[in-house]
Amino acid sequence: LGPIQRAMTTGTTVTSYDTRFERTDGSQFFVAFTASPMMSDGQANGAVLVFRDITERKAFEEQLTRHAFHDSLTGLPNRRLFLDHLDHALRRSSRSHEMHAVLFADVDRFKVINDSLGHHAGDRLLVAIAERMRASLRPGDVLARFGGDEFTILLEGLCSTEDAVAVVTRLLAEISRPVTLPDGHEVVASMSVGIAVTGPGKSRDDLLHDADVAMYRAKGKGRGGQYEVFDALAMGNRSAERIELEAALRKAIEDDALDVHYQPVFRVDDGTIVGAEALVRWSHPERGLLAPASFIGLAEESGLIIALGNRVLEHACRQARAWFEEFGVPLSVAVNLSARQFQQPALAEQIEEVLQRTGVRPSQLCLEITESMAMDDIERTRSVLVRLKSLGVRVAIDDFGTGHSALGYLTQFPVDVVKVDRTFVDQVETDPVKSAIISAVIRLAEAIGTTAVVEGVETEGQLEHLRALGCPQAQGYFLARPQSAERVRGLMADALTPDIASLAQQVAAGRRR
Ligand code: C2E
Ligand code: MG
Ligand code: MG
Repeated sequence: LGPIQRAMTTGTTVTSYDTRFERTDGSQFFVAFTASPMMSDGQANGAVLVFRDITERKAFEEQLTRHAFHDSLTGLPNRRLFLDHLDHALRRSSRSHEMHAVLFADVDRFKVINDSLGHHAGDRLLVAIAERMRASLRPGDVLARFGGDEFTILLEGLCSTEDAVAVVTRLLAEISRPVTLPDGHEVVASMSVGIAVTGPGKSRDDLLHDADVAMYRAKGKGRGGQYEVFDALAMGNRSAERIELEAALRKAIEDDALDVHYQPVFRVDDGTIVGAEALVRWSHPERGLLAPASFIGLAEESGLIIALGNRVLEHACRQARAWFEEFGVPLSVAVNLSARQFQQPALAEQIEEVLQRTGVRPSQLCLEITESMAMDDIERTRSVLVRLKSLGVRVAIDDFGTGHSALGYLTQFPVDVVKVDRTFVDQVETDPVKSAIISAVIRLAEAIGTTAVVEGVETEGQLEHLRALGCPQAQGYFLARPQSAERVRGLMADALTPDIASLAQQVAAGRRR
């Protein structure tokens, strides 16, 4: 008996919690076993032994461990346990060079289901989804509830990426069957899944990040129930070039070295300027002036978009305030928000703070979100927009017509401006369908008290056509290209001065207050 001998040789009390005793019927139970030496002349000549049945305590401890590593709703491993599994798998594969895949799966529009049917129904749905996922996996695959409506899966020992794709295809098919909730409601759920596979030098966090990025891309397809494999070239930032570009972009943001150009927005009937859209530019030390298309994606994936967006917002607000001070007219400035920015819980607070710091009138700021961002979670969009509108800022739906939403959705959001995507004005003079669509959007916008702005007007003919359709506002290369704040100031001065002069005449003639 170890503890007794240890107690006697060391002269101290020794307790063992892992001793298992056997009952006469053969069943076992845990005891806490304490051995205290009996000393005489500094020598142990015996020991007092105390045994305590700790079956209950052991059960409680096991339960605690379970709680710490499992999700109580679905019974699946939680994030912590998943990360442990992944660590182990990566350590093993560093020796065996096996290929593993990490899948990141997120329930599409879960919040809508949760909000409309209640939390209880939401919980039931998650349990049903968890069961179906479990059923479509092999016993050795690790499925975990990563948080909320996010699940992660670890597939070990694959031969190729195709193996992971096959699993995901099966899983998505399994999930797309209707679920009947206890209250009789039938729900058809779907998930978006991102797939990342192990590779040389990829850490646990890289894999999770890659799978998350791929999941984002899958969601970005806008239809739900899609998957995407992380593609290092298209989405990755692991290549030397991307790492370099990311570092340079980070520095440019920190040094406030990004440029903001402004593209004026015009009234179609009289050609006056009503404001301008802020469009970010990056003058890269070696590559020259870069358009957003070449770095917004990188900024999104690296998380730099938040800092970038704040810089642009700040510049734009200062600019709008300067215009107001110079021209005495509250010209509007439009700022594009990225999907990540729009998902930030503290978005409204940040905007409020910038408004206060820059002293711009809130009504001068117009925030643009794209149609697909708005449609991702309709309920959430509505509540974020209501909150933003309470600050007094205006809101625009950008690139309208490129998402997959019905025209009617427009009426669901409290928006001030609809920007009709430039694909519609292209060939509007010869394509009666495009013309009809633009006309319908203009009418609908008008009916709900929203202003339509047609983007991408490149010719005089297009502008005339829009004028005939009764289009209120337009933006495009034919009217003015995006350009530096200084040049736009000049355009505004030209466009506004005659108006101010005529206004002065009217005032002088006593026709206006
Ligand atoms: P967008 O918000 O739809 O901006 C309009 C884009 O159309 C701009 O491209 C503008 O230069 C271009 N454009 C304007 N008129 C015409 C025209 O007549 N013909 C053609 N072909 N194009 C025209 P740009 O500046 O390259 O920006 C592209 C996109 O990048 C923007 O699309 C916007 O989604 C995004 N972006 C720009 N700045 C920011 C920013 O600060 N933050 C975020 N999150 N996104 C930005
Ligand atoms: Mg825009
Ligand atoms: Mg647009």
